[in-house]
Amino acid sequence: MRRHWRDDAACRGLPMEWFFPEKPNGDTSYDQGKRVCATCRVTEQCLALATDFVATGDRYGLFGGRTPAERRFARRVVINNALWQGKSW
Ligand code: SF4
Repeated sequence: MRRHWRDDAACRGLPMEWFFPEKPNGDTSYDQGKRVCATCRVTEQCLALATDFVATGDRYGLFGGRTPAERRFARRVVINNALWQGKSW
């Protein structure tokens, strides 16, 4: 049987609140989860999953070791770079 990338996730079996704090109070709420993500081998696949939530604002959870604010910032950089290069968006 083929393995799913989630089988290799470093966060498997760890407390969910490290990655989805109930009431996040700034990016430091994710520090414990980020330390785990830094050791993860599937950050790319995990981060790609967050693109599914763009339409709803992508406001929750740690994906690919990035907080919602960090993901929004990264998307803005990509869009701005594309616009700067004259690409339509
Ligand atoms: S990058 Fe994603 S899959 Fe890996 S530990 Fe962090 S939340 Fe889990």
